[in-house]
Amino acid sequence: MENCIFCKIINQEIPSYKVYEDELVYAFLDISQVTKGHTLVIPKTHVTDLFDYDAQLASDLFSRIPKIAKAIEKAFPEMEGLNMVNNNKALAYQSVFHSHVHLIPRYSKNDDFS
Ligand code: 5GP
Ligand code: ZN
Repeated sequence: MENCIFCKIINQEIPSYKVYEDELVYAFLDISQVTKGHTLVIPKTHVTDLFDYDAQLASDLFSRIPKIAKAIEKAFPEMEGLNMVNNNKALAYQSVFHSHVHLIPRYSKNDDFS
């Protein structure tokens, strides 16, 4: 979709630090990480938010999340927990309108998340 920052990231028009990629899903580090390893998981198909998903797309995206969480854990073995967050629509703090899931590792030491 034109003028969508995350579509531009998928198409490599904007650089990103890749965490995971396959034919349907892309995962990359958030530009302003609330903790080390804060990752965004997005479908390669442009959908605005959860209300645009069908069951197949939900399965495609959410079935990858355990694998991506384990990749983050491997890269950041000091991680002791992880929050999964998905904001839908502006009132719920969505700021980029290409649906995404935040995976936010948690640390007992030096955890900047407040
Ligand atoms: P939301 O508030 O929509 O749930 O989250 C959007 C997230 O996208 C924010 O955490 C923000 O830091 C991240 N973000 C916005 N623009 C970019 C970008 O150009 N690159 C990356 N890697 N992350 C971005
Ligand atoms: Zn998009």
